[in-house]
Amino acid sequence: MTSESLDIWAAAIERTRKACPGTFEQWFCSIQLDHIAPGRLELAARDEFVRDWVRDHYLSTLVGAIEGLAGGPTKISWRISSELDTPVCEPKSARPTQPPPPPHSREPSSSRPSIRPPSPAADRRGNELEAAPSSRGASTRLQAVRRTPPLKEVLNPKYTFEHFVVGPSNELAFAAAMSSAGGDGPRYNPLFICGGTGLGKTHLVHAIAHRFLDQRPDARVIYVSAEHFTNEFIEALKSGKMDDFRGRYRRQCDLLLLDDIQFLAGKDQTQEEFFHVFNALHEADRPIVVTSDTYPQKLQRMPERLVSRFTSGLVADVQVPRLETRVAIVRKKAELEGIPLSDEVAELLAQHVHSNVRELEGALIRLAAKSSLTGHGIDLKFASQELAAVAPRRQDQVSVQDIQRAVCNRFSLTNAELLSKDRHKSVAFARQVAMYLCRQRLRCSYPELGRSFGNRDHTTVMSAVRRVEALRQTDPQVNAHLEAIEQELASSSD
Ligand code: ADP
Ligand code: MG
Repeated sequence: MTSESLDIWAAAIERTRKACPGTFEQWFCSIQLDHIAPGRLELAARDEFVRDWVRDHYLSTLVGAIEGLAGGPTKISWRISSELDTPVCEPKSARPTQPPPPPHSREPSSSRPSIRPPSPAADRRGNELEAAPSSRGASTRLQAVRRTPPLKEVLNPKYTFEHFVVGPSNELAFAAAMSSAGGDGPRYNPLFICGGTGLGKTHLVHAIAHRFLDQRPDARVIYVSAEHFTNEFIEALKSGKMDDFRGRYRRQCDLLLLDDIQFLAGKDQTQEEFFHVFNALHEADRPIVVTSDTYPQKLQRMPERLVSRFTSGLVADVQVPRLETRVAIVRKKAELEGIPLSDEVAELLAQHVHSNVRELEGALIRLAAKSSLTGHGIDLKFASQELAAVAPRRQDQVSVQDIQRAVCNRFSLTNAELLSKDRHKSVAFARQVAMYLCRQRLRCSYPELGRSFGNRDHTTVMSAVRRVEALRQTDPQVNAHLEAIEQELASSSD
């Protein structure tokens, strides 16, 4: 591993630690860097549970920072090993009841996790470690990791209602989540939150748990991914501990939050078990919140009786947020992370990343990481260069002319009409739509766009862009036009 790669790793780890201060050490003491090279990252995790958790909660931040610094996409591979020579950091504090730390962790400890490259031994070790009998100390630690960690540690402290930006794309899900957490509105049981990846479903269910526990600190709240539920169920079956499992889920649970139910597809036995858990809680009027990447009716290989239960309460979807909401999200994230960000850079980021809030965050983290490494402030020029360099987007292949052509097709105009001085309402509207799409997709400057649209003044372009953006939020017909044109552009650039 080159020292440059190791520097990138250290910077990315620092960024991740800062982004997740409450829980970083808990998880990263069970993760090890095996290898880092341009375009490649190899990690080891103490077990699958740790791997999945880190993958779901920290990897986008970590990899976003690495990609920002290294300047290209990174392929990640994992290995499972119960013995890690050089975990990323030490466990937070050695409590008296814990077994003595293994030899590798007896280095001077500091309040910050140490960020160490792996030892050559770790480099040489492969999967054979998985089969090797673990030492006593290691197996005790393994068990400590395997047990379900206390909820407050599992929940991301930043996933609260206060940190969630509400807009037209998620307001129903947000309001329903507040009610499930004990708010004033009607409580629907179950609440089924569905939508594409990276749109805030997990954030909302964590927020429900935080709020519920704030109000009832002794409440027995279970937050679990469907994958973890499945693993726990299988382990309980194997070890003859089904009574414990059932007691915990069916009787000792005041609020159940089950994330990513789509994972249960085709898992008949786990579905059956979950069905009974669901019925027991529902009959006892305990709130159940389920998330999914799709609507209940579209869940694959899910029995009808479960689907009909999911639809019996409220199904609330989260959609891709519109530009205004995306800008607000970027601002909020920057504020939370202490990243100085001007309004224009926030807007640029929000325009650049459309479909997924997780990617939007990744882009912000990349910028911040690059800025802290190079000492360059995050101004508009720096941000545009970085965004263009790191993720040359497919839509960049679309040109102003392509957009003008697509708009002309949609509104049955000729190109000459579109660029003319004709102020007839329908022509002017089509022109404004074309300007808006060019600005949004190509990030051209206003004066540049003015020139491409028959030498118009940049203020004309600015007001056109604002007008269409505002109409998009309020007028479904305008939105439908825009979506149809965007679809045409997407299919013609395939
Ligand atoms: P999902 O579970 O739908 O795949 P997550 O809840 O993990 O998505 O969200 C991905 C990231 O985007 C998280 O860091 C989350 O905080 C953030 N996020 C998504 N939507 C919003 C929002 N409306 N406001 C603030 N942050 C959001
Ligand atoms: Mg999720």
